[in-house]
Amino acid sequence: MLDRRLFLGAGIAGASALTFSSVWSQSAPNFGLPDLPAVGHKRMKLGKMEIIALNDGAVRRPLGEEFVTNAPLEQVKALLASQNLPTDYIDVPYTPFLLINGDQRYLFDTGFADNGPPTTGKLAANLAAVGLKPTDINNVVLSHFHGDHINGLRNKAGQLVYPNARVHVPSAEHAFWIDDARMEAAPPAMKGAFMGVRRALGNLGGDQLVKFESGAAVAPGITSVAAFGHTPGHTLFRMDSEGQSFAYVADITNVPSLFARAPDWSVLFDMNPAMARVSRRRVFDMLVKDKMMAGGFHFPFPAFGTMEASGNGYQFKPVAA
Ligand SMILES: [Zn+2]
Repeated sequence: MLDRRLFLGAGIAGASALTFSSVWSQSAPNFGLPDLPAVGHKRMKLGKMEIIALNDGAVRRPLGEEFVTNAPLEQVKALLASQNLPTDYIDVPYTPFLLINGDQRYLFDTGFADNGPPTTGKLAANLAAVGLKPTDINNVVLSHFHGDHINGLRNKAGQLVYPNARVHVPSAEHAFWIDDARMEAAPPAMKGAFMGVRRALGNLGGDQLVKFESGAAVAPGITSVAAFGHTPGHTLFRMDSEGQSFAYVADITNVPSLFARAPDWSVLFDMNPAMARVSRRRVFDMLVKDKMMAGGFHFPFPAFGTMEASGNGYQFKPVAA
């Protein structure tokens, strides 16, 4: 039953995350281009470390019944309207984070490289803008294996974008997607997601792929936190230096204007919506209680700030751009 439920959710997520052209062709004619930040990088000191949000772009998707799977479209639109946001479409940004600790540079999630729609693939330019080259990245850390998080590991030609990086992955996430029998048994709509994992992560050298247990330390000052539900091994990261903390919360929500405000709503990409909801409230309660600075992959740029309790949910307060 668990696998069946995961398949159903992932079929949608896989199709939507990997068939970028359909997302793009739907969105382009009617609603124009997504808003991209004029400056797509933002630095923050964390003790002896530095954190940099690096925007990879965004897509504008028409808002239909399918996006929130357990609320009527009229309620979804009303929540957007109450925040003076457009109600016909959603801009979904993609923002990997870079942590610099001495000579170690950790890139958390990768975006698309040149594999996505034309309003994505901005990470390389933003990395250059902070004075770094792809060869300077010695570690890539993945929160989960959806296409928008892993496709940027390799360019369209199949070359590694970060050839000097070890790739750290949650072992539960890796075990789910790398299982050939599970791929064979998956419905056709989900096969693409499995093949995407093999394209991005297959053929990594033996010492280049590093698996860790969610909950374990990934490196000095970086601790992983299991937050399963969005995917079977979806994992967050807490960074600590000199008494300061930062949480990279990945896809604990999609856009916070919907799923922080209404944390019991489920985005169609949540593979196990019930488990994702429990993880979301647990993580957000922790962020509120500890007043911790947090960054999210689909948060509006600069994509990090604090989370405050608001009504039955939470409100994301971004730092100034
Ligand atoms: Zn995502």
